[in-house]
Amino acid sequence: MTLRTQTLPLSANRKNLIEMQSIVKTFVNAAGEFTALRGIDLTLQEGEFVAVIGKSGSGKSTLLNMLTGIDHPTTGKVVVDGVDVYAMSESQRSLWRGRNLGIVFQFFQLLPMLNLLENVMLPMDYVGMYDIDERPKRAMELLRMVGLEEHAQKLPRAVSTGQQQSAAIARALSTDAPIIVADEPTGNLDSRSTNHIIDLFDELSARGKTIVMVTHDPSMTQRTSRTVVISDGELVNETIAQTLPLLTLPLMKEVNKKAERLHFQPGATILRAKNPVKNFFIISSGKVDVVLKGKRKDGLVISRLGANDFFGEIELLRGGKSIASVRAAIDSPVELLALSREDFNWLMQASPLTEKAISNTVQKRIKENKQAGRRIKKKVKHKK
Ligand code: ADP
Ligand code: MG
Repeated sequence: MTLRTQTLPLSANRKNLIEMQSIVKTFVNAAGEFTALRGIDLTLQEGEFVAVIGKSGSGKSTLLNMLTGIDHPTTGKVVVDGVDVYAMSESQRSLWRGRNLGIVFQFFQLLPMLNLLENVMLPMDYVGMYDIDERPKRAMELLRMVGLEEHAQKLPRAVSTGQQQSAAIARALSTDAPIIVADEPTGNLDSRSTNHIIDLFDELSARGKTIVMVTHDPSMTQRTSRTVVISDGELVNETIAQTLPLLTLPLMKEVNKKAERLHFQPGATILRAKNPVKNFFIISSGKVDVVLKGKRKDGLVISRLGANDFFGEIELLRGGKSIASVRAAIDSPVELLALSREDFNWLMQASPLTEKAISNTVQKRIKENKQAGRRIKKKVKHKK
């Protein structure tokens, strides 16, 4: 796939590119008021390929409209690459949008009296990008990339819905904007075209473009670097959604409310061996070491857990004291979500599927711990 792009190679330090702070959106009309977004806080980093998923009516399109400046929040702030989107005038914002965002709308919005090539060239004309002579060539290149080269001269109504959608995607890429925002971009495509578009997005994100894609297809999240779940206008905690994916959305929200946030400095002890365990812990960020006390002074690290892993479940499910100690890895601070024993028991009752998944992990871990224990004994014998 050849695509000329101005984006620089992705550096190791990704910056926060998009920040949505306490976004509330209330629609007011004759029927009354409806709050579609209820306090959204979301930070996206440069180069992320993000899937936004949620049921129909959950607020996905509204969320995108806040990000693109197409609609304005009732309260809250959106900052994109240091620019406060709603501090600009309407006309400044419109130009800013053209330069910085490539947008694929849910209902394409191709202009009916322009052919596909002209539709793709439109954003270039609008922001005055590329020489006039160069625009058709570049637009054609984009149409070729989405498999529409032969249809370039046709009007939108002369091609299929899926082809119109592909043309809308080509149009979104036409100004080489650093951010691509797409509302169900593959909703009307067959699986082959869908894969092709996702490959294309994947490649663009690898080159440093940031892609935010609304989708109702949960399998799509396997292809993105991050998944954001929205439910009734609220974001579901990403750590909980990733760690306990078998929970229903209301249960995820409930867990989020009940969980306590804990922070540990690098190297700090979180659980001490032989002490009672009072919580179920989920790692939001950082790494922890699970340590068995052998004869060695600092113990033997039997496993290292990272973001979206959990611990404490063995003791809570089987009873008893901590078999091993757990400490924050020496090179990173740790953030945890902690559920009390009562809340954990409630959760296991409320979600039998989750209970089953966690029980399986318990069995696997106990086996691994026994093996590690045997290894330690052998080593000690050896030394004697
Ligand atoms: P999604 O894209 O997740 O399907 P939307 O963001 O389009 O959901 O809509 C979220 C909710 O806000 C829906 O209940 C919808 O009816 C309502 N809504 C969206 N736009 C408007 C509007 N302009 N006026 C009133 N209600 C709206
Ligand atoms: Mg929508």
